[in-house]
Amino acid sequence: MDELAALKEAFQSELASVQSLADLQQLRNKYSGKKGVLTAQLKSLSSVSPEQRPAFGKSLNEIKEFVESELKTREISFKDGEQEKRLLAERLDITLPGRSVMFGRSHPISQILEEIKGIFVSMGFGIEEGPEVELDHYNFEALNIPKDHPARDMQDTFYVSNEVVLRTHTSPVQVRVMEKRRPPLRIIVPGKVYRCDSDVTHTPMFHQVEGLMVDTDVSFSDLKGVLELFIHNLFGKNTPVRFRPSYFPFTEPSAEVDIGCIFCSGKGCRICKTTGWLEILGSGMVNPRVFEMAGYDPEEYSGFAFGMGVERITMLKYGIDDLRLFFENDLRFLRQF
Ligand SMILES: [Zn+2]
Repeated sequence: MDELAALKEAFQSELASVQSLADLQQLRNKYSGKKGVLTAQLKSLSSVSPEQRPAFGKSLNEIKEFVESELKTREISFKDGEQEKRLLAERLDITLPGRSVMFGRSHPISQILEEIKGIFVSMGFGIEEGPEVELDHYNFEALNIPKDHPARDMQDTFYVSNEVVLRTHTSPVQVRVMEKRRPPLRIIVPGKVYRCDSDVTHTPMFHQVEGLMVDTDVSFSDLKGVLELFIHNLFGKNTPVRFRPSYFPFTEPSAEVDIGCIFCSGKGCRICKTTGWLEILGSGMVNPRVFEMAGYDPEEYSGFAFGMGVERITMLKYGIDDLRLFFENDLRFLRQF
């Protein structure tokens, strides 16, 4: 019995110096394992005298239960401690501001292009497209610009070969559509065009929207009405509009269209070069020669055409003074739209 009491004391002091779960496991093996001291005591039960045996057995059982319950309690407190340590290490600082998600957005050129398309579609115009690598025939000849025509000097052209060019305007699509379809026609042609030119106001690639309306009785007042409605939709309904005589080989008569300067309200500033007006597009009645080349009878049909630069309109609408900003893809610039 003294031996048992000593065993219990030894266990308690050893338990007090346990530092980790591994130590605890060692202690468990030492006392209640298969080869542990308590198991050995149990085996020695038969050598105890019959009178002492019940008391010894009872006492041994009590110690065994005590040892196991102490070990269990200690194990739980170790595990709790470790969980606490882990929780502390993994703690989330919920006071940190969250990481914001970046949203993409369309390029200002695309936005204005969509707006332009929307306005014309609402007036019943359809959208057509054509090739960017174009035959000389469609880009020049069929638009009344023969090889020796002085108007070819107005455009610095990228030639792919003698007969193939990068289109210098979206006008060739007019001819392609007229060859395929009969009037009435109401189309716009948005797309990329190319000219060998590069400075603050010119880039080798830019966007145009071409328009064409053909029917039996289309007059210059239809041209004025459609373009005025378009401009008032895009720049506001009080924007002054004027038509100024001009020259294009594929229209006759031709007119440049100006709007009252939106920066100085017509008083005159640096952007409008003190004139109070900003040129925004070219237009005119389709030249009968163009109709003839497309296989339309100019006696039967009349129509108008117009063309505008999307970059220029975007610059005017947002007051941007350097065309190159559109192509540098600086997010600080692009995010403003
Ligand atoms: Zn101005």
